[in-house]
Amino acid sequence: MLSLRGVESFYGSSQALFGVDLDVASGTVTTLLGRNGMGKTTTVRAILGLTPPRRGKIALDGQRLDGLPPYRIARAGIGLVPEGRQIFPTLTVRENLIATARGGGWTEARVLALFPRLAERAGQRAGTLSGGEQQMLAIGRALMTNPRLLILDEATEGLAPLIREEIWRCVEVLKADGQAILLIDKNLDALLRLADRHHIIEKGRIVWAGGSAELAADTALRQRYLGI
Ligand code: ATP
Repeated sequence: MLSLRGVESFYGSSQALFGVDLDVASGTVTTLLGRNGMGKTTTVRAILGLTPPRRGKIALDGQRLDGLPPYRIARAGIGLVPEGRQIFPTLTVRENLIATARGGGWTEARVLALFPRLAERAGQRAGTLSGGEQQMLAIGRALMTNPRLLILDEATEGLAPLIREEIWRCVEVLKADGQAILLIDKNLDALLRLADRHHIIEKGRIVWAGGSAELAADTALRQRYLGI
């Protein structure tokens, strides 16, 4: 459903992506893995049009996204849960959800059923939530746009293990629901459990793509590119 072909991105004159090829099939959970500074966030920024690629093609269900402004890319069906959450702290949980609502299967009631902790705090200002709850709200907000593809960029970064598990549980529910997800995260164990397919990026190039069983079995590969 999402395909990147030969994507090259630059920051000024400095090239960060050197021909990235990446695919997310519908209804699957796919990861983008790599050590710090290898180009994961730049790839996400390319998809969203925040750092538009200079060369290459990006398409969602056949519709070209590269060259479109970010708001049109979002409207085409890409929902992002960004690093560092970025919810509206002075709005309530419910207001945060309503703010991004766009017709479809995900409604406020369904999001609150997915995250009972948010349901208990629906009338509370979002800035008073714990870090984990704010992250759940960030996911809820992205779901309220009813995206065809949901991108989670380091969504569990800095969260306590128990809260992280809650986020993974939610990803499992979404996967069972047929939601296509692109995951960027450092918790390889959870990713091996949850994801169907993985890509490894190294210095702006995809150097490996394959399934969870292959990646779990290949210690040398993990050591070389992920340092794990
Ligand atoms: P991390 O896990 O640390 O976020 P990453 O894999 O997401 O790493 P990117 O942030 O995509 O990596 O960075 C890829 C390359 O682009 C790095 O060499 C980085 O120094 C460079 N880069 C990232 N942002 C900028 C920027 N705003 N200006 C110039 N260079 C940048």
